[in-house]
Amino acid sequence: MVPEAVGPSKFDEAKAALERGAFDEALHLLEVAHAEDPDDAQTRELYAVTHLAKAIRLSEKARQARQAAIERRAIEYDQEFQDDPEVARDFDEAFAAIEDVLRVEPTHWKARMLKAALVFRRDRESGRPQALAILNELAIEEPTNKQVPFTIRKIERPCERCGDTGFCPHCKGRGKRRFLGLDRKCERCYGRGICPVCGVL
Ligand SMILES: [Zn+2]
Ligand SMILES: [Zn+2]
Repeated sequence: MVPEAVGPSKFDEAKAALERGAFDEALHLLEVAHAEDPDDAQTRELYAVTHLAKAIRLSEKARQARQAAIERRAIEYDQEFQDDPEVARDFDEAFAAIEDVLRVEPTHWKARMLKAALVFRRDRESGRPQALAILNELAIEEPTNKQVPFTIRKIERPCERCGDTGFCPHCKGRGKRRFLGLDRKCERCYGRGICPVCGVL
């Protein structure tokens, strides 16, 4: 019997891909590695970390796409609006990446925090009770964690500062202000266009 030559594992290949900056390839390799051995702890951990990074990147992309759409469509500050299909897709993809993490690590702390923040940001009316449900679970699981009650206090009631629009009232969600004919980054929200009082994440 000639033993089969053992090449690098998918996990090792994924680590090598990450080291050379091939992020998407690493994600794919980790999916394969996890499917081959769902119980392997180090694969699960790296899978969760990389998919969470993807979720964070996508939620940032969704925020920027929405901010750009507000400006392009000249949406007024207190006007109800529907997200563009591209923005909706960015949110959907961010949620899908979070669900990827939670499928592998159902109790993943940061993934659940991000999910709470994102459901709240996407749509306040439906998102507020969903976000509070997630945060209340986290609060029970880790009673000493300070970030959770802090976030609950931020979002549990409609925000007076921004009229509960979630957008920075100073720059009207645009992230910048026109001054002497020049666009300047809004200093209240650091250019993020999100209300400094109730904005999470
Ligand atoms: Zn607010
Ligand atoms: Zn602002």
